[in-house]
Amino acid sequence: VKKRGIVDPAKSYIHVIKYERKGAFFPISCMQCRKPVCRDVCPVGAIEENPTTGALVVNNDKCLGCKLCNFACPFGGIVVDYVLGIATKCDLCGGEPACAKVCSRDCIKFIDVDKISAELKRKGIRQLAKLEWLITGGEK
Ligand code: SF4
Ligand code: SF4
Repeated sequence: VKKRGIVDPAKSYIHVIKYERKGAFFPISCMQCRKPVCRDVCPVGAIEENPTTGALVVNNDKCLGCKLCNFACPFGGIVVDYVLGIATKCDLCGGEPACAKVCSRDCIKFIDVDKISAELKRKGIRQLAKLEWLITGGEK
């Protein structure tokens, strides 16, 4: 809604794929790469870095809609919208991602990259603790 003013998952700037057999969901979004091939292949320099957020954003005025970035991106993080005729991707909403704000299950979090490592470690410890509890049944 924030980007297009409509509710249409097909036009969302982030996507979620569902694996029906496993009942699992997998998010597809721009990874804001440090060496962005999408930017490297763009013939008109339409993918620019926001100096404030560091996010890579599409300059709509420059974009040709040629899809080279789409082919180059290894994550499927950028697609060309056929209606608009330009590439669309997550741009972190200027530093306040709307998806993270509205996610009622806290599945999407927007945190500093420096904190990700600590967060993963905590998650690993929680999983180990859970595994130990499952093995021992909580007995010491
Ligand atoms: S669109 Fe793809 S290549 Fe470009 S920064 Fe995002 S994930 Fe990386
Ligand atoms: S679709 Fe737009 S952003 Fe992507 S490579 Fe072509 S001109 Fe650049």
